[in-house]
Formats: sequence, structure tokens, C-alpha cells
Amino acid sequence: MGLTMTTLTVKCPTCHKTVTWAAENSFKPFCCERCKLIDLGEWVMEEKRIPGESLELDINENEDQFFQ
Ligand SMILES: [Zn+2]
Repeated sequence: MGLTMTTLTVKCPTCHKTVTWAAENSFKPFCCERCKLIDLGEWVMEEKRIPGESLELDINENEDQFFQ
């Protein structure tokens, strides 16, 4: 039984695999680079979609004010 050290583990947000929170794990809280990129990609897509919609509304409002 060599596992007496307190090892912090987290669940990978993408695939829910148990990940050891180790200093050498540069992808934490993800288990691997692939899961990190998948989560990052979804986040970037959502970030782009939300301002994209509000930007269109802002442009329309500005045009209405401009022509009045
Ligand atoms: Zn994962």
C-alpha cells in the first residue's frame, strides 16, 4: 500500500474520467489535451454566438436612430 499520500483527483469536465491533480498534468482539470481542446472549442463557439446575435441587434438599432 504505497498510496498513503493525499492525492487530489478531479473529474475531467469533458469525458468525466478521474484525473490526478498533479503539477506535471498541464491539461488539468482535463485528462488530456484532446479533452481540453474540446471544452475550449465549445466555449469559444458559445462566446462567438452570443455577441454575434447582440451585435446584429445593436447595428439595427443604430441604423434606426441614424435614419430618424
Ligand atoms: Zn477527458
